[in-house]
Amino acid sequence: TSSIFAAVEMAPRDPILGLNESFNADTRTTKVNLGVGVYFDDNGKIPLLGAVRAAEKTRLEAAPPRGYQPIEGTPAYNQGVQKLIFGADSALLADGRVVTAQALGGTGALKIGADYLKQLLPNATVYISDPSWENHRALFEAAGFPVATYPYYDAATRGVDFAAMKACLATLTPGSIVLLHACCHNPTGADLDAAQWAEVIAAIRERNLVAFIDMAYQGFADGITEDKVALDLFAASGLQFFVSSSFSKSFSLYGERVGALSIVTATRDESARVLSQLKRVIRTNYSNPPTHGGAIVASVLASTELRQQWEDELAGMRLRIRAMRTGLVDKLAARGVAQDFSFVVRQRGMFSYTGLSAAQVERLKAEYGIYAVSTGRICLAALNTKNIDYVADAIAAVL
Ligand code: PLP
Repeated sequence: TSSIFAAVEMAPRDPILGLNESFNADTRTTKVNLGVGVYFDDNGKIPLLGAVRAAEKTRLEAAPPRGYQPIEGTPAYNQGVQKLIFGADSALLADGRVVTAQALGGTGALKIGADYLKQLLPNATVYISDPSWENHRALFEAAGFPVATYPYYDAATRGVDFAAMKACLATLTPGSIVLLHACCHNPTGADLDAAQWAEVIAAIRERNLVAFIDMAYQGFADGITEDKVALDLFAASGLQFFVSSSFSKSFSLYGERVGALSIVTATRDESARVLSQLKRVIRTNYSNPPTHGGAIVASVLASTELRQQWEDELAGMRLRIRAMRTGLVDKLAARGVAQDFSFVVRQRGMFSYTGLSAAQVERLKAEYGIYAVSTGRICLAALNTKNIDYVADAIAAVL
């Protein structure tokens, strides 16, 4: 009898994880991995934040038992998330209009949100930006939705083609789901401004669309408060919407898988019913979330001193990325590169869409051991004071 797996085909490799494998196998000591989506410090290491370390020490000493958490996570964590993403004095929170559940990172939040939406709006199409984080399409397709795109990036201006985006939203079938990046758009680094968000909200209201806002980088553009402008405007709109949020980047807790799904309803009574349904989705997926990461984040957010320390450390990450943006632009100019790279400074978050072609990216890898995504996306947080000159030399040489 033949194996039930005999006819299984090899699935395509994840393009970014595949890049990491090639990078790890590269023996050149000068190699640089600009393909990742992770913040590294100036020594090229993933930092363990001081605020996290302090909270972990306290937790270790307290030696809490590891019972199950509630299906949706603890109130301490969920309320901490709500105050961070909506603001401590948010009317939505006072009115009981937000349902929040701890999730396995931002990805887990998207997944339980998608599974719940499939029950709520089984015939909807999901629209993601063109381009978007690679996993958005796969995740919503896996949840059973057709996934289409709305125009977003304009290579000519290196910004958002807002007219095309708006025109597309105005044609969508009522009940369609629109996935939006709150800030630090991955992969392009091009964000909407407040006036554009107001127009997006008007279009969503006009067409009866459902917004799903992905906020994976709060604090990486201009600051914790500044980066939630989209959420503030949605909150004020009176609409119902979904938010996935993540502490992977902002707390440098990637592997602990700490995120949350928040659903804004119309009334406290709706919230109670929506939470009961969301709990069913979670229960049948993984039952309840893990304890450690959420407990650490909750205790940092609840402590005046640790919260301040975290905000300072987050600002440090944000400013270091900015310094790498300006540094790269200045160093390219200093190497006689004629092309204007000033857009790199305007792009926000961890990434830049550099405009480097697939052939140029290939040359960076082959000749310099510098790894980037074939779309030309580079992670600025992988640059540091030791490798930036080498990278600038290499980019100047392949242009
Ligand atoms: N959404 C976007 C836009 C991202 O860039 C990422 C991470 O790269 C995520 C979600 C997922 O984050 P997490 O690692 O918390 O699942």
